[in-house]
Amino acid sequence: MSSIDVLSVTKLSPFYEAHLREHFVLHDRLHDTDPSAFAKIAPRIRAIAASGESKVSAELMAQLPALEIISVFGVGYDGVDTQAAKARGVMVTHTPNVLNDDVADLAMGLMLAAARQLPAADRYVKEGKWPNGPMPLARKVSGTRLGIVGMGRIGQAIAQRALAFGMSVAYTARSAKAELPHPFYATPRDLAAHSDYLVVITPGGAGTRKLINAEVLAALGKNGVLINVARGSVVDEAALIDALQKGVIAGAGLDVFESEPNVPEALRQMPHVVLAPHIGSATTATRQAMGDLAFGNLKNHFAGQAVITPVPECAVKG
Ligand code: NAP
Repeated sequence: MSSIDVLSVTKLSPFYEAHLREHFVLHDRLHDTDPSAFAKIAPRIRAIAASGESKVSAELMAQLPALEIISVFGVGYDGVDTQAAKARGVMVTHTPNVLNDDVADLAMGLMLAAARQLPAADRYVKEGKWPNGPMPLARKVSGTRLGIVGMGRIGQAIAQRALAFGMSVAYTARSAKAELPHPFYATPRDLAAHSDYLVVITPGGAGTRKLINAEVLAALGKNGVLINVARGSVVDEAALIDALQKGVIAGAGLDVFESEPNVPEALRQMPHVVLAPHIGSATTATRQAMGDLAFGNLKNHFAGQAVITPVPECAVKG
């Protein structure tokens, strides 16, 4: 494998990059940094290494006649033009399952942090305000109603955790899951109307763009809290800011944003919003597992074996 040329299209996790440097000839973002050098090696590139946030366009693929596979470090791959890849016979792989626990943990953490005002509580003690009196009372989590928008691998891991908090769980998805005991609502609006906390954990991309809009937020209501660990594109950010400013909903916990890493000043100023810099899978153990899986897919492909985790669009139907 040591003579195979791979193009990385983003700054990769060290856990993925180390495997690539050891086993392949890695051209790190050469298309961005040195277009004339890139033009010379482009005909030799057989693989693209990407992250969950990377854009891999049809135009880029068209410059790579020898391209065989795109291995994404991340479960979301909404930036990859899978239609173009499929049309070319290019395999696309991702890293599902190994990050379910971490993302579900973060969803619960954001829910608890937003409800119990943990960042404000931390500042309250550190800034010496406690001797002047107690903090305002917060919002209860245990025993309340959780609505999950997107009941896939991570949504189900969130449901498991919520049940341990004595929460009732309901969900929406593209279709109801007969194997799950939780009530299904056909739309995010109907689900929001029956939820105290609404957690969003769908893929990004055209199919879910602004799925959470002003109408859904109005249905969630003035005691409701929105948690987004999916993609920034899934929530209408302007509508969310408006709803938070007007008290249409009570608060939010957000790991992802429309134009990250840029976060609107309005969100950064709000005391009833808890923010995180897209850290859903960001633990050492999980990033290692993702790096191993992203590399494992490339290794299998170039050894002539089936890849481990193709995206559904590229999976061979059995
Ligand atoms: P998954 O197993 O494919 O589950 C996705 C769920 O979303 C499915 O239940 C699907 O419905 C539902 N869905 C898709 N389109 C929908 C729509 N238009 N309306 C309502 N529901 C819809 O994916 P996963 O592994 O759980 O990952 C979900 C997403 O989490 C990823 O794609 C990524 O965007 C995000 N993520 C974020 C982080 C982070 O760092 N914050 C980390 C990892 C993943 P059906 O079941 O009916 O098809």
